[in-house]
Amino acid sequence: MSRKFIVGGNWKCNPATVREANTLLKEWKKALPNVDKSKVDVVICPPALWMSSLNESIEALGMSTCAQNVGKNDAGAFTGEWTASNLQDINISWTLIGHSERRTKYGESDADVAEKVAKCQDAGLNVILCIGETLEEREGGKTDEVNKRQLGAVIPKVKDWDKIVIAYEPVWAIGTGKVATPDQAEETQAAIRAYLKEAAGAAVADKVRIQYGGSVTRDNCAELITKPNIDGFLVGGASLKPTFMDIVSAVG
Ligand code: PGA
Repeated sequence: MSRKFIVGGNWKCNPATVREANTLLKEWKKALPNVDKSKVDVVICPPALWMSSLNESIEALGMSTCAQNVGKNDAGAFTGEWTASNLQDINISWTLIGHSERRTKYGESDADVAEKVAKCQDAGLNVILCIGETLEEREGGKTDEVNKRQLGAVIPKVKDWDKIVIAYEPVWAIGTGKVATPDQAEETQAAIRAYLKEAAGAAVADKVRIQYGGSVTRDNCAELITKPNIDGFLVGGASLKPTFMDIVSAVG
């Protein structure tokens, strides 16, 4: 099966102002003619406060707005949280879940991530599920074990695999400028797909898209995308630049 590429831009807690965000979107618009939208889906993850106000401009570029996180709770007394249904209600149909910064800086466990995925499935939300090992785990030969553990926690919660994308993001590559080599990423992502086949069946393994994330730039993306198990990218720092569109057009 040929899988459609998907590129995500994870802005994290950037840029400093919504005005700068709008300027960036205007810059991207100029490069749009270079992008073949039949070949690549693009999802942009702005800070939560701006999701609503930027959604129209993002959609006007033929892209989708994606939250960076969602609560595992339903509506109620959960100060500071929002629900998967809240996102649907404001016409946001995507969210990241389990980004390594959520796992390491905010203590999200595999069980938390699994509960969040379950809520998103109930709400019909598309999820980019982030998994990946730390440097210590890679050096200890535990890469595949960690990915299996993180993915394995979520698999029983998934009823609709069409709404799941996996982002393999080795923690040691995120924001460090130390990108995985194409062979390293391919080897690990092939192992993730093999595990998916074992745990969820061949049809699921064949159709689920697996992004690579971690220090992707316009200079290193072209080689990575030649690998059969790399179906796109989740881009952090380089998605805050006008040249993010070079990454999108290299893929599509
Ligand atoms: P980076 O971030 O591209 O800046 O390494 C990737 C991510 O955190 O998703």
